[in-house]
Amino acid sequence: MPTDCLFCKIIAGDIPAEKLYEDEDVLAFRDIAPQAPVHFLVVPKKHISGPTDVAEEDEKVIGKLMRIGSKVAQQEGIEQFRIVFNNGEQAGQTVFHVHMHVLGGRSMQWPPG
Ligand code: AMP
Repeated sequence: MPTDCLFCKIIAGDIPAEKLYEDEDVLAFRDIAPQAPVHFLVVPKKHISGPTDVAEEDEKVIGKLMRIGSKVAQQEGIEQFRIVFNNGEQAGQTVFHVHMHVLGGRSMQWPPG
């Protein structure tokens, strides 16, 4: 685990977060700066820097992010939502531990800004 990774620190419990789901592979927690009425992140516990760093051995856990994200969305009372993975600074990635945003509870625009 890189010592400077914010999400590794949240996973380790060193930084508090509002956890919505946790198991041995993944953690879902509320985004600290929500961009929609429901906005949470789902992350693998394994440190992977971003989408381009996903290895073949990670495919299962990356798929699990989607299954758990959908389950937590339902718990949060939303049936329709947007899933976002940012890859690289130009795309808006600010935390370099791969994470899936789940946003819902309002109408969304397309294309994104
Ligand atoms: P990204 O810009 O795709 O890298 O997304 C990083 C997300 O992490 C942003 O939406 C931030 O609001 C969120 N974030 C940053 N720090 C925290 C934190 N301590 N707890 C929860 N979410 C955070």
